[in-house]
Amino acid sequence: MLMTGWPGGLTERLTRFMPLKSMRSQLIASVVTVLVVAFLGINFLNYHLASNTLKQGVVERELPLTGDTIYSEIQADLVRPTLVSSQMSNNTFLRDWALNGEEDPEQVRRFLDEIRTKYGFFTAFFISEKTHRYYHFTGVSKTIDEQDPHDVWYFRVRGMAEDYEISVDPNQQQDNRITVFINFKVRDYAGNFIGVTGVGLELDALAKIVDRYRGDFRRNVYFVERSGRITLHPDSSVAYRRHLADMPGMAEIAAEVADSNRGTFEYGAGDKAVLLTTRYIPELQWVLLVEQRETTATAAASHGLKMNILIGVAAILLTGLIIGWIINRFQRRLEFMATTDSLTGLHNRQVFDIALTQAVERAIRSKSKLALILIDIDRFKAANDRFGHMVGDRVLQQAALLLRGSVRKADVLARWGGEEFTVLMENCGEAEAVKAAEELRRRIAEDLRIKDIPEIHMTASFGVASFQLGEDSAAPLLLRADKALYRAKELGRNRVAGFAGIADRGGR
Ligand code: GH3
Ligand code: MG
Ligand code: MG
Repeated sequence: MLMTGWPGGLTERLTRFMPLKSMRSQLIASVVTVLVVAFLGINFLNYHLASNTLKQGVVERELPLTGDTIYSEIQADLVRPTLVSSQMSNNTFLRDWALNGEEDPEQVRRFLDEIRTKYGFFTAFFISEKTHRYYHFTGVSKTIDEQDPHDVWYFRVRGMAEDYEISVDPNQQQDNRITVFINFKVRDYAGNFIGVTGVGLELDALAKIVDRYRGDFRRNVYFVERSGRITLHPDSSVAYRRHLADMPGMAEIAAEVADSNRGTFEYGAGDKAVLLTTRYIPELQWVLLVEQRETTATAAASHGLKMNILIGVAAILLTGLIIGWIINRFQRRLEFMATTDSLTGLHNRQVFDIALTQAVERAIRSKSKLALILIDIDRFKAANDRFGHMVGDRVLQQAALLLRGSVRKADVLARWGGEEFTVLMENCGEAEAVKAAEELRRRIAEDLRIKDIPEIHMTASFGVASFQLGEDSAAPLLLRADKALYRAKELGRNRVAGFAGIADRGGR
């Protein structure tokens, strides 16, 4: 019946529903929430600022710089042919030869062919205003005609105010190679118009630029005429076939873009936001467009945000775990301190009261038996007085040890106060409890000694009572056990008294 062992699990059972547990969850939840909100807030704000800065950098510096670089390359490629063409128009041989009646066309053919081969142009030409003859590096090819659409350009140049023009020939355009003619007016020494000379060349720079940016996903470079017609595009099937307004997302801004000299635009193509800058190239009368997806511009910020969130989530999780761990430790210590008698290590009165209340509720509900043993050490005060409190304490510790080793695992053993202990036995009637008490009494009577003080050999008295059907609280049970204990003392101590036994004899 009596088992050795420590009435384990009770503290856990009793404290499981204590408010501390939910307070802990609430605390962790609030701390984690505050951290998450603050962290996300700061990070999204940072991301917003960083991506705006990056975007601004792209729109205000990088894209315009690309535009400027491209423009410089185009200009560099046009400088020499323009200079050559200009020198041809001022060439005294050419002018004298024309003014002297255009005799011996072979002379002018050699002049034109030499220029062509020397500078690597594919043509060099002179058209006489007087004869309308078209001279070029192979000789006289034809006489121009105002009605021929191929020749209208001559009459355009003749009529314009400027001395020269650079004209782009779309018909020759293939593989993004652009043919450019640089046409200069030729004048006699009095300043009268006597013809047009110039060179034709392939503008390598454009082909190179478009090739360089083709396949580069980060930037898209293309050219449009003022009319909006696309002239050069990484996708060569678009060039001269599509209008800017036909391009995805461009419909609304196309006119403004084609009309701009230096512009900054943002538009949406599908679900992608695109940043666009423009630059007018007067030499070609084209608008250069340099664009980039916003996501590639702000990619660094997005990456930073992802990394920050990853690290932050890990840090917050860790914080939550650490707080939980610290609170758990703290809580266990608090629970231990609140429920344990520090001198004996037994449950204290508070735990016992809760256990008794719960046991009584269970007994009422399931109509089960419940017994209570009150234990009081005999003449403890005398030992205390004679040997001192310290020795008294050791007696109490020794008593606790003996009792602890003698009760069932399911029983609740507690220090009731002073030199009094109590055992709560569920599913146990009074007779059974009296037997158990008798066993406890025997162990104490045999062993409640202090090694180095042979005079100390103590005993204890026991009062036993059981819960009665129809009762609705623990108070009568306690009262009966107390009465039984009183009776045991009365009868001479070191004995067990069951309340039933004394009740049979009239309650005393
Ligand atoms: P009885 O046989 O009638 O029980 O006599 P008793 O002397 O044991 O009874 P009493 O209740 O008069 O004395 C109990 C004493 O226990 C009084 C108090 O000083 C002492 N005491 C209470 N708690 C402690 C404690 O924690 N340590 C020590 N050393 N003494 C305590
Ligand atoms: Mg007492
Ligand atoms: Mg006593």
